[in-house]
Amino acid sequence: MPVEGPVVRDGGVLLRGGLIEAIGRERDLPPCDDVPVTDMGDAILVPGLVDSHCHLEWALMGGLVPDARFGEWLGAFVHRTANVTPADRQAAARYAALVALRSGTTTLADSGPSGFGVTAAGDAGLRAVVHMEVFGRDTGTEAREKVTRHGEALLAARDQAGPRVRVGVSPHSPYTVGPELWAQVLADPILGDCAMAAHVAESPDEVMLLDDGIGPLVDAIRSVGRDPARWPGGGPGVVSRLEAAGALAPGLVAAHCVQVDEGDAAMLADHDVRVAHCPHSNSRLECGDAPIEMLDALGVVVGLGTDSPASAGAYDLRDEARWAAEATARRGGRPVAAEMLALATIGSARVLGMDSEIGSLVPGKRADIVAIRPFEGAPVEADPSLVVLDPRSQVVAAWVDGEQVLDAGASTRLDTPAIVADATEARQRIM
Ligand SMILES: [Zn+2]
Repeated sequence: MPVEGPVVRDGGVLLRGGLIEAIGRERDLPPCDDVPVTDMGDAILVPGLVDSHCHLEWALMGGLVPDARFGEWLGAFVHRTANVTPADRQAAARYAALVALRSGTTTLADSGPSGFGVTAAGDAGLRAVVHMEVFGRDTGTEAREKVTRHGEALLAARDQAGPRVRVGVSPHSPYTVGPELWAQVLADPILGDCAMAAHVAESPDEVMLLDDGIGPLVDAIRSVGRDPARWPGGGPGVVSRLEAAGALAPGLVAAHCVQVDEGDAAMLADHDVRVAHCPHSNSRLECGDAPIEMLDALGVVVGLGTDSPASAGAYDLRDEARWAAEATARRGGRPVAAEMLALATIGSARVLGMDSEIGSLVPGKRADIVAIRPFEGAPVEADPSLVVLDPRSQVVAAWVDGEQVLDAGASTRLDTPAIVADATEARQRIM
């Protein structure tokens, strides 16, 4: 299933030099006596899944922060994570990369406070963009110094990054980052030039905070001794305030974008801001359902993100696609499995600006491929996308740059028992 292009039965993919050289009926492929042949048997080959927004460092928070409306949840999350050590976040990131790989993800965009995703994803053989988070309402010299230190940390992380990992920056959100610090990030010669992500217009509580300076999100931020950031220009709403402050950088990956109207969508499209749709987290935190059909219709690029187990699932894009289908149905739309699979592949690749390299099985693109074993009796002929997304079908193998990184459901690179043992110990400390 190339995602871009028709389904090929009895198909094959010819890989050479880390790229897809040809795709078609196996018997129609060009002569390839010089390359080894792997027969995947009864399997569906799809593009490696692409997670446009997740947090690897919070992999061990599942079940520890109760579901609640967003503002209350964030307060509980901040308190619950205050004493999680860097070592435990590193163990979490390594475990998360393993889980993502086993779930069929070959590329992910991670946001985290420490940048542990750089080696976690790289060691697993994944392709990744790691957005290092910055927080604060700093102004003037303090803002400039914070941005300089963040740029140095980013360069140090970049030194550790393998060939498949890029390092970027994330001003966390408009309620945790003030307009002056955000502007300094954009103006910085290092940070302003790299991949960027932020949480944008996620919850009604965020809108209440920015428009009126009240609500549970204000209380949550004050409860940890800080003040919420304020964006006085533009408004009402979140996107127009960011726009008025010049904060909508081209290529920005805006996670969530639930609280947006048509005017906001037009601004996002104008500034080439792309949206990572995180329906599971949105549902759990009572944020509402992002209007992705409207965003798409107005020219906004939309992909799929799993966020983190602190608020949602566990780095499983096929599960997230099912949440996306439910959200679409709740909004009166008709969920189509092929469109949900496209969100999790080429859609997310476009969000990350990587669609010329990945996201579909097309000659010339990187050989990032996943093999899915259909469940017994699966209606493969009728709706192969639905079969791919069905949890009874299994991810059995994955390749990145033509390198097999998952074989029979197991990582070919990682010491899985050691990673699981470290994560188990870390989880016990966190609990
Ligand atoms: Zn997030």
